[in-house]
Amino acid sequence: MSSGAADLVGQGAFDLDLEGPREPDLEDDAPEASGAEQARQSIDDLVRGAQRYRTSAQYLDLLRFVGTSRRYGPYNLVLVHVQRPGSTHVLTAARWREAHGRVVRADAQPLLVLQPRGPVVVVHDVSDTEPLDGAPPLPREITEPLAVTFGSDADVRARLDRLEDNLIGLGVRVSTGRLGSQQAGSARAASGRSLRRERRARGGRQQTITEQVPLRYDVVLREGLDPRARLVALVHEVAHVLCGHLGTPDPLWWPDRSRVAHDVEEWEAESVAYLVARRADSSVQVPPSLHQHLDRGLQPPVFSLERVAKATADVEAYCTRRLRTAETGKARPTS
Ligand SMILES: [Zn+2]
Repeated sequence: MSSGAADLVGQGAFDLDLEGPREPDLEDDAPEASGAEQARQSIDDLVRGAQRYRTSAQYLDLLRFVGTSRRYGPYNLVLVHVQRPGSTHVLTAARWREAHGRVVRADAQPLLVLQPRGPVVVVHDVSDTEPLDGAPPLPREITEPLAVTFGSDADVRARLDRLEDNLIGLGVRVSTGRLGSQQAGSARAASGRSLRRERRARGGRQQTITEQVPLRYDVVLREGLDPRARLVALVHEVAHVLCGHLGTPDPLWWPDRSRVAHDVEEWEAESVAYLVARRADSSVQVPPSLHQHLDRGLQPPVFSLERVAKATADVEAYCTRRLRTAETGKARPTS
């Protein structure tokens, strides 16, 4: 499970995120456990049946869309792109009208996204809208999403800390060690001891409770990585875990995909690492291994887009909010 993921971080200036808050009713909602298998098959069947992402250009387009459109969660963005490749910015009809003075065209294609514990919501791509009289010009985040910069050292560090804490709840031990110069990290299944995770006692003032979590996976990261490179390397290794490349402790958490070919494993892990990191920091570039493949116009391997979308959504949740230990593994709504 080696990765060149540390090379993924590019140079650039880091501005504050100027993007507005997400629409509260449209948080990402990957399917609950009962529907998970069905969703996996339907998305992957749709991708295969429609011959989606069989060219480098199509896949690069997907990576850019999911990596830059931070208003919605990654799972919903993948759903949108599968329904309408070439989408660049989606909003509800109400939001298009209120925020941008635009209306949805009569022949527009409705795009369905999921919301937590609710029915689906319909959104529309900007190309399916037109301005009302007096509408302001579209902002840069819509016309040039790749040019908008965001991310800060403090934010990257906060995400790393949050991720590492949630990983303890999942039974993943993260340590730092000497690895080859080509290798930023490694991951393997482990067992036989437990990890300790502290949490505040409910209602207690200063009290903490120490939880014991069985050790399930060992991740080693190369020493000396800066926070951005460490985030990318860690997400790459965690993606191997969440994509089932190392098996599964429980099929309701994620499927056992330990027989997947090595090039597919790396493709999936690099995709998740890029998407999570790019959504946190705009200086992140498509990793060299994916980029070379895509740049040469080679055909992507047959991989599970559903797994990539779910793992990306889950890791983003691990990076942004503290989950209870019991929540870390099982399928759940993610943002
Ligand atoms: Zn790897």
